[in-house]
Amino acid sequence: METYVMALDQGTTSSRAILFNRAGGIVSRAQRLFRQIYPQPGWVEHDPMEIWATERQSMAEAVDAAHIDPKCIAAIGITNQRETTVVWDARTGEPVYNAIVWQCRRTAPICDRLRADGLEETVTEKTGLLLDAYFSGTKLRWLLDTVPGLRRRAEAGELRCGTVDSWLIWNLTGGKVHVTDYSNASRTMLFNIHTLTWDADLCRALDIPVCLLPQPVPNCQEFGRVAENIPGLEALAGIPICGSAGDQPAALFGQACFAPGQAKNTYGTGCFTLMNVGNVPVRSKNGLVTSVGWSWKGKTTYALEGSVFNAGSAVQWLRDELGLIQSAPECDRLAGSVPDSGGVVVVPAFTGLGAPYWDMYARGTIVGLTRGTTRAHIARAVLESIAFQVTDLVRAMDEDAPCPITVLRVDGGASVSDIMMQIQADLLRIGVDRPDQVETTAFGAAAMAGLSAGVWSGMEELEGLRRSQCVFRPLRDEAACAADYARWRRAVDRSRNWIENEL
Ligand code: ADP
Repeated sequence: METYVMALDQGTTSSRAILFNRAGGIVSRAQRLFRQIYPQPGWVEHDPMEIWATERQSMAEAVDAAHIDPKCIAAIGITNQRETTVVWDARTGEPVYNAIVWQCRRTAPICDRLRADGLEETVTEKTGLLLDAYFSGTKLRWLLDTVPGLRRRAEAGELRCGTVDSWLIWNLTGGKVHVTDYSNASRTMLFNIHTLTWDADLCRALDIPVCLLPQPVPNCQEFGRVAENIPGLEALAGIPICGSAGDQPAALFGQACFAPGQAKNTYGTGCFTLMNVGNVPVRSKNGLVTSVGWSWKGKTTYALEGSVFNAGSAVQWLRDELGLIQSAPECDRLAGSVPDSGGVVVVPAFTGLGAPYWDMYARGTIVGLTRGTTRAHIARAVLESIAFQVTDLVRAMDEDAPCPITVLRVDGGASVSDIMMQIQADLLRIGVDRPDQVETTAFGAAAMAGLSAGVWSGMEELEGLRRSQCVFRPLRDEAACAADYARWRRAVDRSRNWIENEL
């Protein structure tokens, strides 16, 4: 009898469920969108009940579409939008407020206060993060300070809180299990990544009662089983939930980056680069963050992470604002019609620059225009700008980590661009490896669950399931690439500190 593993991929805009077979192939998938709630400029919320309902519907639909006996599903794995924070009533399961989404900037003033109190160094040392509103800790603090009666109820033990993994596991187990996996915990700004426990000093500094927090657990182990009588999921009762990780570490796992020095980049609207740095956390000198990738059989693997704010969005900008192209694939065709960008460099710092620059006051820049510049040169410069930004991150990682990056595995919507992948390989001077299975995040969650449920024997078997669709190797002359990169750095300098510090 065939065995299946179900991945729940709870993202920022949709809830998905995907069934994988033992060969790592997709048997079926289902997806439901849910509402984005914007109560004020810069604020983003989700309705936790909608997250749970859409995830339930997707699970039921994926099982129906596969035409399989649900008893053949050996395990469920979860991957989720990270940092998004939910607080709910322990007895009724009712959320006390909407989920505060990772993108939400409402707690920036709390971060400023904590910084003024001198907490930044402690945060970085203990959690591997930067003091920023993205992370869950200040979101939870805001809820406790703002929602009437919340702090009293929290201290009385009437409430539970967690990130979306925690919320889903609690609901799937019928309110029995209140846990969070180490990778999700390590994005809260409350979790000590060295001891793998909630940090008492940080909880005190943020005034958060520890009794509110879920129990942190390793990523691959049985957390609990699907409860009886969950509407729509009756047929799935009893299936063990055996894997959980945030979306980016799940993609690192799904790309089989199991050895130190292996890294992945996701080319989407923005980019997320993660590098496996082994079993000891790394302290970045270049503005990268360190979090837990995963923990299995008592061994914890850490990841260095950096992100690019604007990547695929720059291609959208060419299409939607400039009208230079009709579609993203046209950008590739146009870029391929010229041998180089004719000296043009685009820096798409639309919303500032992240690591390694961290300049919120940078803005987009085009330099090197001549009378002969065509839209093809600009299209090519936009694709190059994405590869340059990823090169910045990879170079920063190579400086920070004990071993250099040996291979870059790629995924995400913009990784279909052959020309961009070739530019990337030329700049990095390493192989850029695109898999045939693009659902790396969901597969990572399934792989973790299947590993602990015994569907797959170990990392080696999982490695064997990953197949490269194409490996791009450096072709262009190294000195010419170095000259291009130097020009990029000069263009970045021009884009920096562009607007006054009025933010
Ligand atoms: P996200 O998950 O962040 O919404 P996706 O992974 O779906 O993003 O990737 C979509 C992004 O990829 C878009 O910003 C789009 O402009 C870009 N993209 C899609 N196809 C191409 C292409 N052929 N060349 C360059 N960029 C592309």
